[in-house]
Amino acid sequence: MASIEMRNIVKQYGDGFPAVNDVSLDIADGEFMILVGPSGCGKSTLLRMIVGLEDITSGDMIIGGKRVNDLAPRDRNLSMVFQNYALYPHMTVYENIAFPLRLSKTPDEEVRRRVTEAAEVLELKDHLERKPANLSGGQRQRVAMGRAIVRQAEAFLFDEPLSNLDAKLRGQMRTEIARLQRRLGITTVYVTHDQTEAMTLGDRVCVLRKGKIQQVASPRELYEQP
Ligand code: ADP
Ligand code: ADP
Repeated sequence: MASIEMRNIVKQYGDGFPAVNDVSLDIADGEFMILVGPSGCGKSTLLRMIVGLEDITSGDMIIGGKRVNDLAPRDRNLSMVFQNYALYPHMTVYENIAFPLRLSKTPDEEVRRRVTEAAEVLELKDHLERKPANLSGGQRQRVAMGRAIVRQAEAFLFDEPLSNLDAKLRGQMRTEIARLQRRLGITTVYVTHDQTEAMTLGDRVCVLRKGKIQQVASPRELYEQP
């Protein structure tokens, strides 16, 4: 687990108005931070700069006390949980969760131990031999999180993970993500434009507008202000 510190982060695409314009934000170890704001305010760009999928024009990105501006995504040890889950349809749940460990040539015994542990936490133990097509949306989301857990990633990053789901499943998944995050205590950054998600999921909410931070507050503080 790691803290994420952003110091005067700027992202300029071409010569237009900066997509992210001097953002400084400290996310504590284990904190659940929501990034919210209207479409185009720079949420995804900021998230992609944390993961390393987008170059930083200026400023410093510090993860776990280490400046990571020049580190490739794979060397940052973060885990992005995508909207479409990015599961392999031909692989079982077990192999989908184990995938990052296979890539790093982890010994079988260790793979078995870590996948079993993750499946326990995620309540997927009875589904390990199934294929993604035979799972519910919520179970697929958990498999995607399982991959992040076995890698022992420093942080989870979510980019609107629930926006394609119907209202009922979205509500269930919201509860599930909040519960898992608290159980794992892993630093989490979660992008959404959904007010309900912003007000119910996180420890703090960072409101972005036109590339700048408008406000950082707890949901309670946001709720109680006039
Ligand atoms: P969202 O609003 O859901 O974050 P967008 O539809 O704005 O996503 O963007 C989808 C993809 O297109 C992203 O990868 C983004 O980087 C890219 N994109 C967005 N705006 C532009 C642009 N003006 N020029 C080039 N690519 C863009
Ligand atoms: P959000 O996630 O809040 O919808 P984005 O981070 O996707 O916002 O976009 C912020 C701004 O940067 C928008 O004006 C968008 O059009 C622009 N943008 C995003 N990606 C690109 C890109 N690859 N090239 C050029 N402009 C982009």
